[in-house]
Amino acid sequence: MPGLPDLRDRIFFPPLSRLPHDTRFSQSECEYYDLSVIPPMNGTFLSTPDMTLRPRRHWCLLAEIVELDFWPFRPMYKVKDVTGQIFLAAFHFDDRALFPKVAKKAVLGSTICVMYASFHYFADGQVGVRLEEPRNVKILPFGLDELAAMGDLCRRAWNTDTGTKALAESCIACGKPAAKRCSLCSVAPYCSKECQTSDWKAKHKKECPITRIVSHQMRSWNEFDWDSYVVHEGFEDFI
Ligand SMILES: [Zn+2]
Ligand SMILES: [Zn+2]
Repeated sequence: MPGLPDLRDRIFFPPLSRLPHDTRFSQSECEYYDLSVIPPMNGTFLSTPDMTLRPRRHWCLLAEIVELDFWPFRPMYKVKDVTGQIFLAAFHFDDRALFPKVAKKAVLGSTICVMYASFHYFADGQVGVRLEEPRNVKILPFGLDELAAMGDLCRRAWNTDTGTKALAESCIACGKPAAKRCSLCSVAPYCSKECQTSDWKAKHKKECPITRIVSHQMRSWNEFDWDSYVVHEGFEDFI
């Protein structure tokens, strides 16, 4: 991925339909895994559950929780990806002590991020993702649309910062050339104190905390090379 991570990129942030399958061979697995390392046995293999296959690169599924699906033993949710497809996200962590934390963060409208996600057929015929590795999972407290919009804002902010005082962007309140950024998120550009104050009341007061979380995540996603797999890149502060 050239430059900063683009959350709208469907290669690195694929929807469910583009994920590799975890239990059967198809062409799409070649795109994600180096199949020369461990060849398929008896025509089938497991991919991410035990990490026996070496990924070729990194990818992350982004999906918004649209329905809480209470289940007695583990958290399970209906989620929706960028294409609108609704599917199951079922938590299968070995460490069940993490489930209360998951349940607390996984509220309606929040977004689950899953590194190295794979497509799973559940026993009852439903499709979705099985989440087995805690450090691959991060739950963000806002929806997919907000994540994408704030991701765009962060990318513009970083791409246009040239080390000089002048910003190449326009004020998000009035469209005039911007001269400063919000000092809390270091992302939102403004032409003047007046625009910043009115935009704070109008919407940035709500957006700023979201922008800070997205900016923080974008920075850690920006630290590794999405195109080549050297080491496993999970979330430092997972779940
Ligand atoms: Zn302005
Ligand atoms: Zn801000």
